[in-house]
Amino acid sequence: MNASPQTPKWKRVVVKLSGEALQGGQTHGLDSATLERIAGDLDAAAGLGVEIAVVVGGGNFFRGIQGADKGIERARADSIGMLATVMNALAIEYALEKLGRPARALSAVAMPSVCEPYSRQAALHHLSKGRVAILAGGTGNPFFTTDTGAALRGAELSCDAIMKATQVDGIYTADPKKDPKATRYESLTHDEAIAKNLAVMDTAAFALARENRIPIIVFSIASPRAITEALSGQGKATIVVP
Ligand code: UDP
Repeated sequence: MNASPQTPKWKRVVVKLSGEALQGGQTHGLDSATLERIAGDLDAAAGLGVEIAVVVGGGNFFRGIQGADKGIERARADSIGMLATVMNALAIEYALEKLGRPARALSAVAMPSVCEPYSRQAALHHLSKGRVAILAGGTGNPFFTTDTGAALRGAELSCDAIMKATQVDGIYTADPKKDPKATRYESLTHDEAIAKNLAVMDTAAFALARENRIPIIVFSIASPRAITEALSGQGKATIVVP
């Protein structure tokens, strides 16, 4: 148990979870222990009184660009990718509900028989009721990523920060898994992130966050309380600021 005080730095955030974060040690799909751990972390974060919108990726099932490489036309492959994000959103919704935390999956790709269609008003309503809003389908358009979806939702839902969960504890000068000399940035501006062409998020996502002056916190999802800690400024992270 972490006995240190946890005061959240932001009131309303969008948490970007990649599909990869949900696959645990598996090569694809969902790992139930990892899903439960992340749901527990989201539940604890919501318990701090923070309004949380989760934008979830789908790379653990399908990415449009990979489908295109295999000969599926890109727009159609991206539709398959967007459907993959809905699977993850439903899994997170259920994992949160099992913990007693109210949650609603909303999809930018309308499929009302499985979850609510996304609308800004509905998402804001759920957030105001203390429900975790799990936003599927990215932007609802092909040729985008869920990182851009996270920046878009962050802007339209007036979020105070975008919490970008990754496999490493921040943004490094080079890939720390390949270059032992790589060092972590404590902070960076959006302009610098764009100029350095950092792989951590796509340029469209950085540009949207810059335009709307939303900070991006890049942190590792590996620890059991990663989101809660990042929200209260504990643990390692890189913050991208205007
Ligand atoms: N996607 C899309 N439009 C969007 C968001 C996502 O077409 O606005 C598709 C795209 O094919 C993408 C896939 O959904 O590869 C899964 O999203 P992403 O690659 O961002 O997932 P992550 O890497 O975060 O798991």
